[in-house]
Amino acid sequence: MSTDMKVLIIGSGLGGLSLAQSLRRSGVPFEIYERDSTPFDRSQGYRLHLDGDAINTVGEVLTPDLQALFKETSQWTEPYTSIMMPKSLRVVKRLLTKDDLGQGVWPNTGDGTLIHANVDRATLRRILLSGLEDSIHFGKKFERYKILAEDKVIAHFVDGTSATGSCLVGADGVNSHVRVQRAPNLATMDAGITAIYGRLPAKAVQELGPKEALEDIFLIASDERKVFLGLGSVIFPTSPHEAANELGLDIELHPRESYVVCIVGGRHEFFPEAHRKATSAELQTIAASLIEGWSDNAAPLVRTGDSESFFAVHMRTSVPNTLDRPANVTLLGDAVHSMTPSLGRGANLAMRHGALLGRHLKRVAGGQGSLANELAAYEASMLEYGFKVVREAAEIGRQRMDQIPLDNVVDA
Ligand SMILES: Cc1cc2nc3c(=O)[nH]c(=O)nc-3n(C[C@H](O)[C@H](O)[C@H](O)COP(=O)(O)OP(=O)(O)OC[C@H]3O[C@@H](n4cnc5c(N)ncnc54)[C@H](O)[C@@H]3O)c2cc1C
Repeated sequence: MSTDMKVLIIGSGLGGLSLAQSLRRSGVPFEIYERDSTPFDRSQGYRLHLDGDAINTVGEVLTPDLQALFKETSQWTEPYTSIMMPKSLRVVKRLLTKDDLGQGVWPNTGDGTLIHANVDRATLRRILLSGLEDSIHFGKKFERYKILAEDKVIAHFVDGTSATGSCLVGADGVNSHVRVQRAPNLATMDAGITAIYGRLPAKAVQELGPKEALEDIFLIASDERKVFLGLGSVIFPTSPHEAANELGLDIELHPRESYVVCIVGGRHEFFPEAHRKATSAELQTIAASLIEGWSDNAAPLVRTGDSESFFAVHMRTSVPNTLDRPANVTLLGDAVHSMTPSLGRGANLAMRHGALLGRHLKRVAGGQGSLANELAAYEASMLEYGFKVVREAAEIGRQRMDQIPLDNVVDA
């Protein structure tokens, strides 16, 4: 193994951490640089749906004890995305949900039933951070890089410091600074959709919502304006902090009750301008009022939410393109493939990219391939499957919530 190889990872989201865990398992040196000053500076949402991409990544990159913790804290859902009627909130159709992985690759129960998980994002991120404490540098906002040789690159941070490595990976999310320099041709665009997210107590959903809201991957209802209500549960088999204790792991997971995330969204024009400066409680009121004319239980369901848990998202999507000028700088996750959450696949792709890139970098460290060839192979593969998913997400987003089509770029 080449001893002087070092991978610089910019960003400690789900993608960057999956790569780091992969490198840790194969003994390839790396350092992570994160702009936030602690792991939990900003709320990044609540529930995540994980499909075969992410579940396979967990099995590949995490140590067995962390895999056990993941298993104990994930809700293993029924494999459906279900459609509710806005006038009744009753489920009228359950659609089998799958990604582009074949049956042979997707984890299944043994009888062929595909496995899906709904997880708490903060819990998953904490699990992925575990064991990386000595390699992660918080408060390091990446500013720019300079390529010094084909296996040497220097990253500069806004605090005036710098770091040198063999290659640099931009895992810095939808507004990636690495992407701006590495691939200025890769743009993102406004998807035209605003969504308000909040957390509902599972008990309230049990009383007011359809029973599938606590069983299926996700439920969605939309009206003639394509204003939608989405519901997605996280029912912990074991509460996260208890699971860590029971497994004898020295990992501090936050105590959390099971919950259901609710999303009320639609085209920007349905949201009053005031939502941009609204408090959480005001956002909750706006969300409930948007579905006031629906069934008797729809708006009340939103009102049962934790009034401090609501936040708004203005959705963006990547615009498919090529990644030219091969270099010892590459991208992963939202930095290259951001999308609207219509398929619930962004995190899954970010984690799959992390595992894939980890495999290629292991080959470089083991002398089985050159850095240039392995990065080129990684990029060819992830660009193909990644933009396919971005296109699919945009098309489903267009059908379900009136997302602006990708061929209608207005502000890329
Ligand atoms: C509300 C919501 C719900 C979602 N639901 C789902 C779902 O159910 N299933 C699913 O698969 N996906 C879902 N997604 C998408 C998913 O969250 C993203 O695709 C995923 O988090 C991308 O991971 P990432 O590591 O690429 O980027 P991020 O998670 O965005 O991480 C990027 C990291 O880089 C850091 N960073 C940024 N700039 C710099 C800089 N200049 N210097 C240093 N560090 C920097 C950030 O602080 C952050 O820690 C959802 C997204 C949202 C917003």
